[in-house]
Amino acid sequence: MTNKLIPLSVPNLSLDILDNIKETIETGWVSTGGRFITEFEEKIAKYVGVKRAVSCQSGTAGLHLALKVLGIGHGDEVIVPTVTFVAAVNPVKYVGAEPVFMDCDDTLDMDMDKLEEFLQAQCTFKDGKTVNKETGKTVKAVIIVHVFGNPADMERLMNIKEKYNLKVIEDSTEALGSYYTKGRYAGKYCGTIGDIGVYSFNANKIITTGGGGMVVSGNQKLLDKVAFLSVQAKTDPLYFIHDEIGYNYRMTNIQAAFGTSQIDKLETFIETKIRNYNLYKEAVENIDGLTILPFAKNARSNHWFYSIIVDKEKYGMDRDELLKKLNSENIQTRPLWGLIHKQKPYLDNQSYKIEKALFYEKNLINVPCSTNLGEEEVGTVVSRLKNI
Ligand SMILES: *Cc1c(COP(=O)(O)O)cnc(C)c1O
Repeated sequence: MTNKLIPLSVPNLSLDILDNIKETIETGWVSTGGRFITEFEEKIAKYVGVKRAVSCQSGTAGLHLALKVLGIGHGDEVIVPTVTFVAAVNPVKYVGAEPVFMDCDDTLDMDMDKLEEFLQAQCTFKDGKTVNKETGKTVKAVIIVHVFGNPADMERLMNIKEKYNLKVIEDSTEALGSYYTKGRYAGKYCGTIGDIGVYSFNANKIITTGGGGMVVSGNQKLLDKVAFLSVQAKTDPLYFIHDEIGYNYRMTNIQAAFGTSQIDKLETFIETKIRNYNLYKEAVENIDGLTILPFAKNARSNHWFYSIIVDKEKYGMDRDELLKKLNSENIQTRPLWGLIHKQKPYLDNQSYKIEKALFYEKNLINVPCSTNLGEEEVGTVVSRLKNI
């Protein structure tokens, strides 16, 4: 028996994009200029409720530029989560800074208690500078990842930021569409609260442009700088004068042609994500040994990825056996990312009391969650989870 593949997370594209693509071909605007780029930037800015957004080649490129324009470089440290896709951390190394790894809590987002404890106990604060006692380096920033679209505790983080004079970069690559419904940031979208926020439109994200990213900030000067660096830092476009080292990081009009169509569908996609999550939840609650992780109660999360925790004793099978079984039956599932503090390039970096992340690394499974996943397909996955 070969079942039809139920993929983990695939794009949800529609043919109306062809009209846009046709226009890029007919007009010749296929590179880093053209109307779709500005249109897409405006649409994203309007959607998340900011004045302006600046497009780029990828979320990774956006994070790199964010660190650059915030002045983070050699001798600096950036606090990052160990539970994340590696692209949230690599840009720290691109700018010559070093990451310090933080644990997650039961939301999978960074543990704010440990973050505060680290800053308090392991750092000194003098003349507006937070210095890591162990390394002697200045802690300049925190990269917070809204893991799987689940909004992090930004109230706590922004208080910590004030207290320790840190920059906050919101890696919202997984959280486009998530916003807070309660508290100080009610009505605010993930990505729009810290100094800079970054979105991604990679193929597995909630909307896609094939590849691409977007940077937002309340600070227009920072955004000017991001835009400037993304087009080779061209000071004079006629005489090609460059006063700084720039990058070829701007989005192309072809990518943006996808984006202007995809963003119009985002709310529908989120509805599907939430519907399917609730279907899984109802079913999983009745399966002994499986627990589905909740999303933040003080927010409307985009429900990007669903996480199920496997209790080997109660379920009768451990996470890896379950993964293997489902994948062999054409139900694509995967474990949590390998923790970043244990990856080869980061073995020499400091990590602070990482405990919970180890549990989730061992016991978590992500189940199919595409926005074109039908109710019957969710039913198929659920019945396999039940009858294993
Ligand atoms: C996808 C992702 C990125 C990188 O985005 P790209 O557009 O693929 O470069 C960064 N951080 C996290 C947490 C991601 O999931």
